[in-house]
Amino acid sequence: MNDSLARLRSQLGDRVVLPGAPDYDEVRRIWNAMHDRRPALIARCLSAEDVASVLRYATAADKKVTVRGGGHNVAGAALADDAVLIDLSLMREVIVDTAAGLAYAQGGCLLRDVDAATTPHGLACPAGVVSHTGLGGLALGGGYGWLARKWGLTCDHIVAAEVVLTDGSIVQTDAQTHPDLFWALKGGGGGFGVVTRFALRLCPVGQVHLHTGVYALDNAGEALAAYRDFAEKQPADLHTVGALKQAGAQDWIPQSLHGKPVLVLTAGWFGAPAEGPAATKPLFDATVPAATRRQLLTYAQLQALADHSEPHGNRYYTKSCYLADLTGRPIEEFLGAARDIRSSRSCIDFEYLRGAIDDVMDEDSAFPGRAAPYIYTASAQWTDIRDDGENVDWARHSVERLAAWRYGGAYVNYVQDEPEGKFLEVFGESRYRRLAAVKQRYDPHNVLRHRP
Ligand SMILES: Cc1cc2nc3c(=O)[nH]c(=O)nc-3n(C[C@H](O)[C@H](O)[C@H](O)COP(=O)(O)OP(=O)(O)OC[C@H]3O[C@@H](n4cnc5c(N)ncnc54)[C@H](O)[C@@H]3O)c2cc1C
Repeated sequence: MNDSLARLRSQLGDRVVLPGAPDYDEVRRIWNAMHDRRPALIARCLSAEDVASVLRYATAADKKVTVRGGGHNVAGAALADDAVLIDLSLMREVIVDTAAGLAYAQGGCLLRDVDAATTPHGLACPAGVVSHTGLGGLALGGGYGWLARKWGLTCDHIVAAEVVLTDGSIVQTDAQTHPDLFWALKGGGGGFGVVTRFALRLCPVGQVHLHTGVYALDNAGEALAAYRDFAEKQPADLHTVGALKQAGAQDWIPQSLHGKPVLVLTAGWFGAPAEGPAATKPLFDATVPAATRRQLLTYAQLQALADHSEPHGNRYYTKSCYLADLTGRPIEEFLGAARDIRSSRSCIDFEYLRGAIDDVMDEDSAFPGRAAPYIYTASAQWTDIRDDGENVDWARHSVERLAAWRYGGAYVNYVQDEPEGKFLEVFGESRYRRLAAVKQRYDPHNVLRHRP
């Protein structure tokens, strides 16, 4: 063992995990089984000081570094062969300051950690829709979710952060301190430093009225047109999402649809619960579904609703794009992609965005694409490695067939298997150059690998 590794070991003890250690395979595993990479060293950090020591060690050893927040990045960005992996999964503390309306969340938090701490106070930070996703990667790339139209993206709620830079220094950043770094953390996609603590502005949340309708694919074209006409006119209290997938064997869904491809439309009302039924009803009056369900949920229940459908350890491949509108042919392409699904676990998700996402001044954050009307995501999920080819092809083709109706750019957290030029398209020329300048200033030797 060389001196610098011995020094790191003296600080972190058996939280330094090397290849061959009994827990190495368990600790390096991430959500998507497609990414089976072997880091040279895994450091399970407990503090910013631990992270600083690991970065100093890696720089001296001339190793690239990756960071794991929740390990959910679709492209497996948290993991690289022969790199040093900074594992933040033991850093999940959340402290809520109700008087200030802020949560201080460590960099390895999952979304459910933040919700568990904030929702008992009737507060939440807007975030994604699967509660075992990591806060770190999600917030650094943007963060769409149920509250986005009402309150904005997760990155819009970062008010300050503690960041460990690649030279091992620990800095605090906010709009006044290291403003360029702070700007880049808000949706720039990561790679500027390791965020060990986020300060997040919280919003009030109460009970949520959720209204869901399921349609056989034969009626789905009409229902999709009705969705478009409805969704685009709604107040920010109403968020609507759609999915094309195989119907599960749930009691409220007619047996004749079990196992069949269906369209599921869901409207969530985030205003006064009593107004929910009247607000969501017109969506389902326009084209009558085969079955509907109404639920009154706490926000924490809503956030966990989709958890079971995205389990750890399956094989996943995701492709996504923004769409300018849903008029005519794109609807046919949606349905064509749904008919071609290769796996019963795969899904197409889409939603109308705008609302508060688009209210933030463009120059206030690195996040691009605020005005994008729709996001469309084809998520292939399967279990057998022999089925990789057909599932990957399905997800790619599902997005390619919509090429003519795309809105510019893409959501950085869903980018995978693309050349560097894709990131120029994602951020646009001036944002991309500004992000490159921030990277050059805060990680001049490109130690942090944030793209696979
Ligand atoms: C099941 C599922 C559901 C999803 N749902 C949504 C959704 O509703 N809305 C949405 O916007 N996105 C969603 N996503 C996409 C999600 O935003 C990205 O996958 C994101 O990268 C996940 O972050 P993570 O911390 O779990 O990932 P990781 O793989 O751990 O990290 C992703 C990237 O961020 C970096 N990173 C993570 N934490 C830190 C940190 N503290 N400091 C510095 N760098 C860090 C990593 O180095 C890596 O480059 C979903 C993804 C999955 C798999």
